[in-house]
Amino acid sequence: MPQPKADEVVLEIAYAGICGTDKHLFAGLPGSADVTYPRVLGHENSGTVVAIGENVQKLAVGDRVAIDPNIYCGDCDYCRAQEPELCENLSAVGVTRDGGFENYTTAPAKVVYKIADNVSLKAAAMTEPLSCVVHGIDLLTLKPHQKAIVLGDGFIGQMFIQALKAYGVHHVAVSSRKVSDAQHVELLKSMGADTVVDGNAKEFADNYHIVIEAVGSSFTQEQAVANAEKGGQVLMFGVGNPDQTFTISSYAVFAKQLKIQGSFINPYSFQDSLALLASGKIDVERLISHELSFAQVPAYLANKFDESVNKAVINLQKING
Ligand SMILES: [Zn+2]
Ligand SMILES: [Zn+2]
Repeated sequence: MPQPKADEVVLEIAYAGICGTDKHLFAGLPGSADVTYPRVLGHENSGTVVAIGENVQKLAVGDRVAIDPNIYCGDCDYCRAQEPELCENLSAVGVTRDGGFENYTTAPAKVVYKIADNVSLKAAAMTEPLSCVVHGIDLLTLKPHQKAIVLGDGFIGQMFIQALKAYGVHHVAVSSRKVSDAQHVELLKSMGADTVVDGNAKEFADNYHIVIEAVGSSFTQEQAVANAEKGGQVLMFGVGNPDQTFTISSYAVFAKQLKIQGSFINPYSFQDSLALLASGKIDVERLISHELSFAQVPAYLANKFDESVNKAVINLQKING
């Protein structure tokens, strides 16, 4: 049982989401911050406070919470310029300190958020990936009249569809490589997609004011710029390999006056994410397809799990019995 430092709390983890970043870290590739090994992974965590340090005032034993993994120094040039996500001394639960793939972990109280009574601990474990989506949206200028498209229909794309709708964009399309699967298309529409376009095509019938690249492949990155409307905003959200490149027309960027925007982690976005979950405007629980046992996790992290997974979590309550 870990002991809390003065500004920390100890959490009994309920659910820990497993994300693509965990696969990168498991393979020894870089994540949001440099990892020191050995490390307990798990940065998408929900749980219950079981102990608090002597300086902690806003949290109490028994509180149901979600953890923002990212801890900013507050003191570097980026933190002082209100860009803490670019912090030079970034540390993170499940990356530079032990995370939620074990029963108990500690976190600074300042990154621990109480959840509403009507938000389940399972949904709350998705607050971190949702908060990255909300940060991406924060970086755009959204207007109700815009037409948006999300490139990629996976877990992140599914959250973007719901978030764009929640933020008032009137028409949201999604690209999918499974447009011939009627059931899959219906599922995407039930999440708020107005149209589902064939993601195998390089050029779509329409151009879009807002293009969200949520895959991270060169193909979809090129697709993103090619299908942006004049004056469009392209959010490059998907994470490619460090040495990956893509080719775009610089003339298109000029002639269409495009904004191409990167998005890194999740500053100032946890409160909005928790509000979106509590209001029911975003449903993340239905997106979770698998509750894995610990025994299944290594195979999953090594891409040797043979079922198709929309989103996987570890249910530590079940493991605790
Ligand atoms: Zn993640
Ligand atoms: Zn900093």
